[in-house]
Amino acid sequence: MLAELEDFVALRRSVGVARTRLVMDDVIARLETALPMIRGIPAGPAMLELSFDCDSSAEGVATVEQVRATMVAPFDLDGESHRLSLRIGGGGAPTHDADELRLIESAEQALADAREIRSDVVRDLANPSAGDDPIQLMRELPEAIASGQIFLQYQPKVRVRQQQVVSAEALVRWRHPVRGLILPGMFIEAAERSNAIGPLTLWIIERAIADQRVLAAQGHDIPIFINISGVLLSDAGFVRDACALVSGGGAKIGFEITETAVIRDPESAIANLGIFARIGVPLAIDDYGAGLSSLAYLKRLPARELKIDKLFVTQLTSSNRDPLIVRSTIDLAHALDMEVTAEGVETPAALALLGVMGCDMVQGFLISRPIEFAAFLTFLSEERHVAAMAGPRFSFHRDVGQWKVG
Ligand code: C2E
Ligand code: CA
Ligand code: CA
Repeated sequence: MLAELEDFVALRRSVGVARTRLVMDDVIARLETALPMIRGIPAGPAMLELSFDCDSSAEGVATVEQVRATMVAPFDLDGESHRLSLRIGGGGAPTHDADELRLIESAEQALADAREIRSDVVRDLANPSAGDDPIQLMRELPEAIASGQIFLQYQPKVRVRQQQVVSAEALVRWRHPVRGLILPGMFIEAAERSNAIGPLTLWIIERAIADQRVLAAQGHDIPIFINISGVLLSDAGFVRDACALVSGGGAKIGFEITETAVIRDPESAIANLGIFARIGVPLAIDDYGAGLSSLAYLKRLPARELKIDKLFVTQLTSSNRDPLIVRSTIDLAHALDMEVTAEGVETPAALALLGVMGCDMVQGFLISRPIEFAAFLTFLSEERHVAAMAGPRFSFHRDVGQWKVG
């Protein structure tokens, strides 16, 4: 396992460079005393290599728990009490197959994932495909929902003119105890095939309703949009349950749907979308341009928002054709009385061009990656989108400041 000290920079500021050089020795001493099966070696000022033998991967995961528990009590650093916490990434393999290089590299990868999801990750190299198997994943899904492994991240949509966050998209993630972070691309399709998508989506709607209430209570009463799989649009049971949740909750919830989903079973999909629209759920057409599109259906959908697929947006400033497609899509949507969102806005250049083209709203890494709810609240209250959208000008000012200082 590789264990990394969290908030190392702050600790170094607080106790000084010399003392931080010795901190890892203190950590190793404590861990080796409490957990004698563990051998620890410092692997840098903030990093620690821990190795041990165990009988199963479950035991390995349990040992990580014990390490965490051992770290809870504060450390005495030169008479001052400091809480230290470790972020852990680990890999395990059967003794006969425990190639050191493989173990270290898998621990490095696990640690990188652990940082990203802010949760420890341990992988079983003997069973690497355990989580790649969609059927296995679907077996684990109900338990994953029940035990809090499924969670939502939020990504803001910003109105270009007013520079205001007008809504957010909820994106589902799975924090798997062995595999680390699993993105929806890995399990949504399997969930659609196995009928797990209905219960999963209802859980997501409930979660988003609860979060939207908190947003509203804190003065950010913006709708949260949820992705609805095409298969659910012709599922009467789902439509009934979703309507009950959304209309009973009093929270602002919108749905994103793809046109391809509608084309599959147009009559019942359009009828059900009509039901959602009538109870006040705003609808957005997702991934426009990426799949099948039909002007005939586009006209019949009770949607107020059209989202241009990120495929066209990420290439916007490097391709000859994409600006034309985006431009004409914006005009088409406006002619149909819809607002346009560009997703996948990654650069100030793309943002500027979209603004000139009359695009109403933008969403993308430039403004924010999808982030967890607590971080999203901070993002909103600090209006971080403003600095993000002012990107290059901001760094220009900083440069000027540095010139003056120098
Ligand atoms: P989507 O609805 O098109 O969601 C946007 C995807 O683009 C997200 O990927 C998001 O992280 C990513 N993205 C956002 N901004 C940028 C950017 O600036 N550049 C680039 N390159 N990518 C960006 P994610 O979260 O992996 O989701 C993938 C897809 O999985 C979603 O595509 C959606 O179709 C599906 N999905 C996500 N959450 C749910 C859900 O709760 N239910 C259902 N049914 N599907 C979901
Ligand atoms: Ca979407
Ligand atoms: Ca999309």
